[in-house]
Amino acid sequence: QAKASYDAQDLWQKDKNHFIHPFTDFSLFHEKGCDLITDSDGIYVEDVHGNRFIDGIAGLWCVNVGHGRAEIGQAMAEQATRMAYFSTFNNLSNAPATELAAKLAELAPAHLNHVFFSCGGSTANDATIRLVHYYFNRLGKPTKKRILSRTNAYHGTTYMAASLTGIASNNWQFDTLDLVTHLSEANCYRRPEGMSEAEYCDHLVDELEQTIERLGADNIAAFIAEPIMGAGGVLVAPQGYHSRVQAICRANEILFIADEVVTGFGRLGHFFASEAVFDTQPDIINVAKGLSSGYAPLGATLISDDLYAVLSTPQGPGGVLSTGFTYSGHPVSCAAALKNIEIIEREGICENVLEVGPYLESQLKTLASHETVGDIRGSHFMMAIENVANKTTKALLPVEARVGDRVAAEAQKRGLIIRPVGHLNIISPPLIWTRQVVDDVVAILDE
Ligand code: PLP
Repeated sequence: QAKASYDAQDLWQKDKNHFIHPFTDFSLFHEKGCDLITDSDGIYVEDVHGNRFIDGIAGLWCVNVGHGRAEIGQAMAEQATRMAYFSTFNNLSNAPATELAAKLAELAPAHLNHVFFSCGGSTANDATIRLVHYYFNRLGKPTKKRILSRTNAYHGTTYMAASLTGIASNNWQFDTLDLVTHLSEANCYRRPEGMSEAEYCDHLVDELEQTIERLGADNIAAFIAEPIMGAGGVLVAPQGYHSRVQAICRANEILFIADEVVTGFGRLGHFFASEAVFDTQPDIINVAKGLSSGYAPLGATLISDDLYAVLSTPQGPGGVLSTGFTYSGHPVSCAAALKNIEIIEREGICENVLEVGPYLESQLKTLASHETVGDIRGSHFMMAIENVANKTTKALLPVEARVGDRVAAEAQKRGLIIRPVGHLNIISPPLIWTRQVVDDVVAILDE
């Protein structure tokens, strides 16, 4: 089927005049407008002028199975024409949502068997905090309200999710809710001078214990963390950190929430990283992005049997669990997710990540000899390069140097899209990259 052609100039002008882009740097936007991405295929995307790029960011950490999967499109089209939408409120349901909930329960750690659907990562986190508060209220512990998060965490941009987020620049001139206490991020590269990784882990765990002591466990509802921090700089915590944190949470009746919006659905080689990689059994796991590989908006909160037992206790005559979205369990999104999961399983995409991921890590690390490369870190298909002015002192280049933007722009000129985040560059590709693609990408970055 012939593709519709676009009038590039007309679109560019309309975009400039009318489209408020999320996370826009207006100084750049006013100067150069947008890059219109119009086409995609496998590991590639194409702009309106026909320039082709290797997608080094899987859209935005999400197109895990790669672009242009006709069978996902077909599954969505079939569902949209059969029954595009109907409510899931008041005991109504639809087949794809039901099947997907059961499939997620099958894939998730054994104790997580109940699924609350939302529209993406922010709404999954937002819904989660409402459910957590509801849970403690129903247990008769209404003072358990405060949520522990971490500096540089990214959990989204609804009011609650933005409040959980700990990236200061993200909330600049925005307000946040006074419900969250931020602990230090686990940043092995910038840990205090002279501290071993094991001592650093003790230090972070001590901070958590002191914070619980100070705030009182009776006032704390939950701790939320990404297994590997994503947008905050691809920060891998010291060995044992997450399981030690979980043990302390459990001892203090603080729910342990894993935000697996990025780490889920294969990015670290498993459907869920919490148990398989980090040896934790979260009370709640949140997913989005790779759940549908970005083919349709979708998020989900996976809830333990113990929590569900409380949430599902009848309130009495006429009482309902009054939370949810019009699009909770949207049939077309759920049909996309089911087909996406089928592809991940059929093609052994997690296995590809386990095989090619360490190669990507080792090849990226060859770039460490460059003058401005301070650190190359991450795991499997979740990597970052930290650019610095001085490798010994780890001092940063001035913000005006726009180092992340400039590296990304040079890569783009050479046919590769990577993501600038301040002084960092993030590489989070579709999970179908091969060793050959890794070689091509590392050659571009080296240049
Ligand atoms: N949680 C994490 C860990 C994320 O990385 C993101 C988005 O990047 C979100 C939540 C928010 O997801 P969404 O943008 O779908 O609302």
